[in-house]
Amino acid sequence: MKNNIYRIQKQLFFAVAAAALLSGCTGPAKGESAAAADTVWFPAEASTAFTEEAETETPAGASAAAAPTETVSREDALLSDTYDLTRVTFTAEAAGTSIYIVGGIHGNETAGWKAANALARELSDGTRKLARGKVSVAAPVNAWGAAHDKRTTYGNVDINRSFPGDPAGNDGEQIAAALFDDIRAQQPDLVLDLHEALVHTDGSDSLGNSIICGSDQGIEELFLGLLTASDRDPDFPKLNVFGSPPAGSINRTAGDILHLPVITVETRREDDLEQRIYSQLRVIEYILAWYGM
Ligand SMILES: [Zn+2]
Repeated sequence: MKNNIYRIQKQLFFAVAAAALLSGCTGPAKGESAAAADTVWFPAEASTAFTEEAETETPAGASAAAAPTETVSREDALLSDTYDLTRVTFTAEAAGTSIYIVGGIHGNETAGWKAANALARELSDGTRKLARGKVSVAAPVNAWGAAHDKRTTYGNVDINRSFPGDPAGNDGEQIAAALFDDIRAQQPDLVLDLHEALVHTDGSDSLGNSIICGSDQGIEELFLGLLTASDRDPDFPKLNVFGSPPAGSINRTAGDILHLPVITVETRREDDLEQRIYSQLRVIEYILAWYGM
Protein backbone atom coordinates (compact mmCIF):
# COMPACT_ATOMS: atom_id res chain seq x y z
CA MET A 1 0.00 0.00 0.00
CA LYS A 2 2.75 2.39 1.01
CA ASN A 3 4.60 1.46 -2.16
CA ASN A 4 1.54 2.25 -4.24
CA ILE A 5 1.15 5.65 -2.64
CA TYR A 6 4.81 6.32 -3.26
CA ARG A 7 4.48 5.27 -6.89
CA ILE A 8 1.46 7.54 -7.37
CA GLN A 9 3.32 10.43 -5.77
CA LYS A 10 6.28 9.75 -7.98
CA GLN A 11 4.11 9.64 -11.10
CA LEU A 12 2.43 12.84 -10.01
CA PHE A 13 5.81 14.43 -9.50
CA PHE A 14 6.98 13.58 -12.98
CA ALA A 15 3.67 14.62 -14.51
CA VAL A 16 3.85 17.98 -12.79
CA ALA A 17 7.51 18.38 -13.66
CA ALA A 18 6.89 17.53 -17.29
CA ALA A 19 4.03 19.98 -17.55
CA ALA A 20 5.86 22.72 -15.74
CA LEU A 21 6.52 26.04 -17.32
CA LEU A 22 9.73 27.94 -16.91
CA SER A 23 10.62 29.21 -13.50
CA GLY A 24 9.57 32.50 -11.98
CA CYS A 25 13.14 33.58 -12.58
CA THR A 26 12.88 33.74 -16.34
CA GLY A 27 13.63 37.03 -18.02
CA PRO A 28 14.62 40.30 -16.48
CA ALA A 29 11.94 42.27 -14.72
CA LYS A 30 10.60 45.27 -16.56
CA GLY A 31 12.23 48.43 -15.34
CA GLU A 32 15.52 46.65 -14.81
CA SER A 33 16.49 46.65 -18.46
CA ALA A 34 18.34 49.95 -18.24
CA ALA A 35 21.56 49.63 -16.27
CA ALA A 36 21.97 52.07 -13.47
CA ALA A 37 23.13 54.71 -15.90
CA ASP A 38 23.03 57.41 -13.28
CA THR A 39 25.36 55.48 -11.05
CA VAL A 40 29.07 55.06 -11.58
CA TRP A 41 30.11 51.63 -10.45
CA PHE A 42 33.37 50.96 -8.69
CA PRO A 43 33.71 47.40 -7.40
CA ALA A 44 35.39 48.58 -4.19
CA GLU A 45 32.36 50.72 -3.40
CA ALA A 46 29.95 47.80 -3.46
CA SER A 47 32.40 45.76 -1.49
CA THR A 48 32.34 48.33 1.26
CA ALA A 49 28.57 48.66 1.13
CA PHE A 50 28.06 44.96 1.43
CA THR A 51 30.59 44.53 4.20
CA GLU A 52 28.88 47.23 6.24
CA GLU A 53 25.51 45.61 5.76
CA ALA A 54 26.86 42.20 6.65
CA GLU A 55 28.38 43.59 9.82
CA THR A 56 25.14 45.12 11.01
CA GLU A 57 23.49 41.74 10.58
CA THR A 58 26.04 39.85 12.64
CA PRO A 59 24.44 38.85 15.95
CA ALA A 60 25.91 40.46 19.06
CA GLY A 61 28.83 38.51 20.37
CA ALA A 62 29.40 36.73 17.08
CA SER A 63 32.02 37.70 14.56
CA ALA A 64 32.37 36.76 10.92
CA ALA A 65 35.97 35.94 11.79
CA ALA A 66 35.05 33.79 14.79
CA ALA A 67 37.19 30.72 15.20
CA PRO A 68 35.56 27.57 13.82
CA THR A 69 34.51 24.87 16.22
CA GLU A 70 37.03 22.15 16.91
CA THR A 71 35.49 19.69 14.52
CA VAL A 72 34.68 22.01 11.62
CA SER A 73 37.35 23.67 9.50
CA ARG A 74 36.77 26.82 7.46
CA GLU A 75 38.34 27.81 4.17
CA ASP A 76 37.81 31.19 2.50
CA ALA A 77 38.52 31.36 -1.24
CA LEU A 78 38.56 34.59 -3.24
CA LEU A 79 37.02 33.65 -6.60
CA SER A 80 37.12 37.15 -8.09
CA ASP A 81 38.73 40.23 -6.61
CA THR A 82 37.24 42.46 -9.32
CA TYR A 83 33.68 41.34 -8.63
CA ASP A 84 33.99 40.81 -4.88
CA LEU A 85 33.11 37.13 -5.14
CA THR A 86 34.18 34.81 -2.34
CA ARG A 87 33.32 31.27 -1.40
CA VAL A 88 33.54 29.93 2.14
CA THR A 89 33.65 26.21 2.85
CA PHE A 90 32.98 24.46 6.15
CA THR A 91 34.24 20.89 6.43
CA ALA A 92 33.35 18.48 9.24
CA GLU A 93 35.80 15.83 10.42
CA ALA A 94 33.39 13.07 9.42
CA ALA A 95 33.13 12.44 5.70
CA GLY A 96 29.77 13.03 4.06
CA THR A 97 27.87 14.87 1.35
CA SER A 98 29.32 18.01 -0.20
CA ILE A 99 26.73 20.74 -0.85
CA TYR A 100 27.55 23.96 -2.70
CA ILE A 101 25.10 26.79 -1.97
CA VAL A 102 24.85 29.72 -4.37
CA GLY A 103 22.80 32.81 -3.48
CA GLY A 104 22.19 36.17 -5.12
CA ILE A 105 23.03 35.31 -8.71
CA HIS A 106 20.18 37.78 -9.11
CA GLY A 107 21.24 40.56 -6.74
CA ASN A 108 17.75 41.79 -5.85
CA GLU A 109 16.55 38.32 -4.82
CA THR A 110 17.56 39.22 -1.32
CA ALA A 111 16.18 36.36 0.76
CA GLY A 112 18.34 33.83 -1.07
CA TRP A 113 21.70 35.40 -0.40
CA LYS A 114 20.76 36.58 3.09
CA ALA A 115 19.71 33.03 4.02
CA ALA A 116 22.98 31.64 2.62
CA ASN A 117 24.99 34.17 4.61
CA ALA A 118 22.97 33.48 7.76
CA LEU A 119 23.83 29.80 7.46
CA ALA A 120 27.52 30.64 6.90
CA ARG A 121 27.54 32.86 10.00
CA GLU A 122 25.99 30.12 12.12
CA LEU A 123 28.46 27.55 10.85
CA SER A 124 31.27 30.02 11.46
CA ASP A 125 30.39 30.89 15.06
CA GLY A 126 29.39 27.33 15.91
CA THR A 127 25.70 27.99 16.65
CA ARG A 128 24.96 25.58 13.81
CA LYS A 129 26.97 22.37 14.02
CA LEU A 130 27.96 20.32 11.01
CA ALA A 131 27.83 16.61 11.75
CA ARG A 132 29.51 15.45 8.57
CA GLY A 133 30.37 16.48 5.06
CA LYS A 134 31.04 19.85 3.55
CA VAL A 135 29.03 23.04 3.00
CA SER A 136 30.28 25.72 0.61
CA VAL A 137 28.58 29.11 0.34
CA ALA A 138 29.04 31.74 -2.38
CA ALA A 139 26.70 34.70 -1.81
CA PRO A 140 25.84 37.16 -3.08
CA VAL A 141 27.27 36.11 -6.44
CA ASN A 142 26.08 39.38 -7.98
CA ALA A 143 27.63 41.67 -5.35
CA TRP A 144 26.94 44.86 -7.32
CA GLY A 145 23.32 43.85 -7.86
CA ALA A 146 22.92 43.02 -4.18
CA ALA A 147 24.35 46.39 -3.15
CA HIS A 148 22.08 48.23 -5.61
CA ASP A 149 18.98 46.01 -5.41
CA LYS A 150 19.33 44.99 -9.08
CA ARG A 151 18.73 41.63 -10.71
CA THR A 152 21.49 42.06 -13.29
CA THR A 153 25.12 43.18 -13.19
CA TYR A 154 26.44 46.71 -13.57
CA GLY A 155 26.70 45.93 -17.30
CA ASN A 156 23.03 44.82 -17.23
CA VAL A 157 23.88 41.16 -17.79
CA ASP A 158 21.77 38.35 -16.34
CA ILE A 159 24.40 36.05 -14.77
CA ASN A 160 21.86 33.24 -14.73
CA ARG A 161 21.75 33.24 -18.54
CA SER A 162 25.56 33.42 -18.83
CA PHE A 163 26.80 30.01 -17.60
CA PRO A 164 29.28 28.43 -18.08
CA GLY A 165 30.64 31.95 -18.50
CA ASP A 166 33.70 33.40 -20.17
CA PRO A 167 36.73 34.79 -18.30
CA ALA A 168 37.28 37.22 -21.22
CA GLY A 169 33.61 38.11 -21.67
CA ASN A 170 31.34 40.79 -20.22
CA ASP A 171 31.01 41.26 -16.46
CA GLY A 172 28.21 38.72 -16.09
CA GLU A 173 30.11 36.12 -18.10
CA GLN A 174 33.26 36.71 -16.03
CA ILE A 175 31.35 36.25 -12.77
CA ALA A 176 29.63 33.13 -14.14
CA ALA A 177 33.00 31.68 -15.21
CA ALA A 178 34.61 32.33 -11.80
CA LEU A 179 31.75 30.57 -10.04
CA PHE A 180 31.37 27.75 -12.52
CA ASP A 181 35.10 26.96 -12.50
CA ASP A 182 35.05 26.78 -8.71
CA ILE A 183 32.05 24.43 -8.71
CA ARG A 184 33.82 22.28 -11.29
CA ALA A 185 36.93 22.16 -9.07
CA GLN A 186 34.96 21.45 -5.89
CA GLN A 187 32.90 18.64 -7.45
CA PRO A 188 30.05 18.88 -4.91
CA ASP A 189 27.36 16.20 -4.69
CA LEU A 190 24.59 18.79 -4.95
CA VAL A 191 24.28 22.47 -5.86
CA LEU A 192 21.61 24.64 -4.23
CA ASP A 193 20.77 27.78 -6.17
CA LEU A 194 18.77 30.31 -4.12
CA HIS A 195 16.44 32.76 -5.88
CA GLU A 196 13.15 34.58 -5.43
CA ALA A 197 10.11 34.44 -7.70
CA LEU A 198 9.28 37.51 -9.73
CA VAL A 199 6.11 39.43 -9.07
CA HIS A 200 4.48 39.85 -12.46
CA THR A 201 4.25 43.34 -13.88
CA ASP A 202 0.48 42.95 -14.41
CA GLY A 203 0.04 42.73 -10.66
CA SER A 204 -0.80 39.00 -10.58
CA ASP A 205 0.85 36.74 -8.03
CA SER A 206 4.28 35.28 -8.58
CA LEU A 207 4.71 31.55 -8.98
CA GLY A 208 5.18 31.38 -5.24
CA ASN A 209 7.53 29.24 -3.19
CA SER A 210 8.94 26.65 -5.53
CA ILE A 211 11.78 24.34 -6.39
CA ILE A 212 13.12 23.78 -9.88
CA CYS A 213 14.85 20.67 -11.09
CA GLY A 214 16.66 19.86 -14.27
CA SER A 215 16.42 16.45 -15.89
CA ASP A 216 16.49 13.19 -13.91
CA GLN A 217 19.35 13.84 -11.51
CA GLY A 218 19.00 11.01 -9.01
CA ILE A 219 17.46 13.17 -6.30
CA GLU A 220 13.79 12.36 -6.91
CA GLU A 221 13.21 11.10 -3.37
CA LEU A 222 14.68 14.25 -1.86
CA PHE A 223 12.43 16.26 -4.19
CA LEU A 224 9.37 14.31 -3.06
CA GLY A 225 10.34 14.84 0.56
CA LEU A 226 10.60 18.60 0.00
CA LEU A 227 7.24 18.70 -1.80
CA THR A 228 5.42 16.84 0.95
CA ALA A 229 7.20 18.33 4.00
CA SER A 230 4.48 20.97 4.44
CA ASP A 231 1.90 18.19 4.92
CA ARG A 232 3.71 17.19 8.10
CA ASP A 233 4.75 20.67 9.25
CA PRO A 234 2.48 23.64 8.48
CA ASP A 235 5.39 26.05 9.04
CA PHE A 236 7.36 24.46 6.20
CA PRO A 237 6.82 26.37 2.94
CA LYS A 238 4.38 24.70 0.58
CA LEU A 239 6.40 24.25 -2.58
CA ASN A 240 5.43 24.12 -6.23
CA VAL A 241 7.71 22.26 -8.61
CA PHE A 242 8.93 23.35 -12.03
CA GLY A 243 11.22 21.79 -14.59
CA SER A 244 13.12 22.94 -17.67
CA PRO A 245 15.53 25.47 -16.18
CA PRO A 246 16.43 28.02 -18.89
CA ALA A 247 19.50 27.82 -21.12
CA GLY A 248 22.51 29.51 -19.56
CA SER A 249 21.17 29.10 -16.02
CA ILE A 250 23.43 27.47 -13.45
CA ASN A 251 20.80 24.77 -12.95
CA ARG A 252 20.73 23.77 -16.62
CA THR A 253 24.47 24.20 -17.21
CA ALA A 254 25.83 22.44 -14.11
CA GLY A 255 23.48 19.57 -14.96
CA ASP A 256 24.45 19.38 -18.64
CA ILE A 257 28.20 19.98 -18.40
CA LEU A 258 29.19 18.88 -14.89
CA HIS A 259 26.42 16.25 -14.49
CA LEU A 260 25.64 17.60 -11.04
CA PRO A 261 22.19 17.63 -9.48
CA VAL A 262 20.99 21.18 -8.91
CA ILE A 263 17.97 22.37 -6.93
CA THR A 264 16.85 25.94 -7.49
CA VAL A 265 14.82 27.37 -4.63
CA GLU A 266 12.47 30.31 -5.17
CA THR A 267 10.67 32.22 -2.43
CA ARG A 268 7.40 34.08 -2.77
CA ARG A 269 8.05 37.81 -3.07
CA GLU A 270 4.61 38.68 -1.68
CA ASP A 271 5.81 37.51 1.75
CA ASP A 272 7.86 39.83 3.91
CA LEU A 273 11.64 39.46 3.85
CA GLU A 274 11.89 37.79 7.25
CA GLN A 275 9.40 35.11 6.19
CA ARG A 276 11.23 34.56 2.89
CA ILE A 277 14.59 34.12 4.63
CA TYR A 278 12.89 31.69 7.03
CA SER A 279 11.45 29.73 4.07
CA GLN A 280 14.86 29.57 2.37
CA LEU A 281 16.51 28.33 5.57
CA ARG A 282 13.82 25.70 6.14
CA VAL A 283 14.44 24.26 2.67
CA ILE A 284 18.24 24.37 3.13
CA GLU A 285 18.03 22.73 6.56
CA TYR A 286 15.67 20.05 5.24
CA ILE A 287 18.25 19.15 2.60
CA LEU A 288 21.16 19.17 5.06
CA ALA A 289 19.17 16.94 7.42
CA TRP A 290 18.33 14.62 4.52
CA TYR A 291 22.05 13.94 4.16
CA GLY A 292 22.59 13.69 7.93
CA MET A 293 24.56 16.90 8.06
ZN1 LIG B 1 16.50 34.57 -9.79
